[in-house]
Amino acid sequence: MKLNKNFKNLKENYLFAEVSRRVEKYKADFPSSDVISLGIGDVTLPLSNKAVDACRSAGLDLGTTGGFRGYGPYDGYPFLKNAIVDYYKRRNIEIHTDEVFVTDGAKNGIGNFLDLFDEDNVVMIPDPVYPAYVDANILDGRKIVYCDATRENKFLAMPPKKVKADIIYLCSPNNPTGAAYTVEQLKEWVDYALENKAVILYDAAYEAYIEGKGIARSIFEVVGARDCAVEFCSFSKMAGFTGVRCGWTVIPMNSPLNRMWLHRQAIKFNGTSYVVQRMAESMLRGGYEDTKLMVSAYKNNAKIITKKFDELGIEYTGGKNAPYIWFYCGVDSWEFFDYLLSKARLVCTPGCGFGKNGNGWIRLTSFNSKERTEEAIKRFEKFWKDFEAVKNKLTFSTVK
Ligand SMILES: *Cc1c(COP(=O)(O)O)cnc(C)c1O
Repeated sequence: MKLNKNFKNLKENYLFAEVSRRVEKYKADFPSSDVISLGIGDVTLPLSNKAVDACRSAGLDLGTTGGFRGYGPYDGYPFLKNAIVDYYKRRNIEIHTDEVFVTDGAKNGIGNFLDLFDEDNVVMIPDPVYPAYVDANILDGRKIVYCDATRENKFLAMPPKKVKADIIYLCSPNNPTGAAYTVEQLKEWVDYALENKAVILYDAAYEAYIEGKGIARSIFEVVGARDCAVEFCSFSKMAGFTGVRCGWTVIPMNSPLNRMWLHRQAIKFNGTSYVVQRMAESMLRGGYEDTKLMVSAYKNNAKIITKKFDELGIEYTGGKNAPYIWFYCGVDSWEFFDYLLSKARLVCTPGCGFGKNGNGWIRLTSFNSKERTEEAIKRFEKFWKDFEAVKNKLTFSTVK
């Protein structure tokens, strides 16, 4: 037996494991301190009653002779695929039910999709970004090139002139920066992909958070995208399904990837559970208003944070079309993390964990209650004023 040699190329410490290690140590040293996390990448609100009702009634179905179901279709039940097609139709995007594949989550969909590609492909990944894209490609041993997302391009990487790539990852609204592409900007990526005969793997896990004019909620709003793009979506952040597990993938029929993916799923996947698919359906039909309430609760928290940042003159992106606020701390991200935890009992996520361009930056999330967010930002304000006053006198490692 020979182990996958690529495993040793993964970074030792997974970002979120290191964050919780440091938080646990702090809590052990100061057991009575009230730590608030603005680092959570998981939703906090309970499921909508509509989802719970759908869960109950689908569960009851399964206990009856007429309603029992065994293995479902590999690509999802028609009732959910149709609800997804209609969800796009409401936004004037035409897709066919055969182009929709129900998955047990976007992360699984994106990671597993690599089964369809040869090892010999150049992969382009924005930096900073959600760490799973990089690690999944390292495991497969593919060559990775990065495209820079920096303050100069408002953390929206644009296609490089000279570098060629075969597989391109885009995440919009972006985790961690909260930055979101306009349709016009995405058009440049689509043109680049068509020119290079590349595929765009488009992660739209946060599309439900978009409110800005001209911002794309789907790559299929862009002319030409049907000839080069695959879109991954999720019920996790729009309906609180991080523990329930359901997402979908849209693969245009004219791409060979469509039939290949169905074949791949038939080999390695036996479908998302019937109960979960009924719950997901309810969120796109009668329960859709509840997803909006959930999303706006998180976005109100984001507003609490960005309003204070505006007052304090802090440089940031995000907060408007995403549950993330990405701000410039100006010193080494991990040193800032430790300082913020020790002085204000607040947890953040160091930007350097999302790529080298993230150093000097910090991600905050709005996944929390309003009360805790308000308390956190009160502490943060005091912390920031002190930090500004002392940061040149302390021995922080500076960044550009
Ligand atoms: C949370 C998240 C996902 C994961 O979605 P699941 O459907 O829960 O697997 C995918 N992409 C990004 C960018 C995320 O932040």
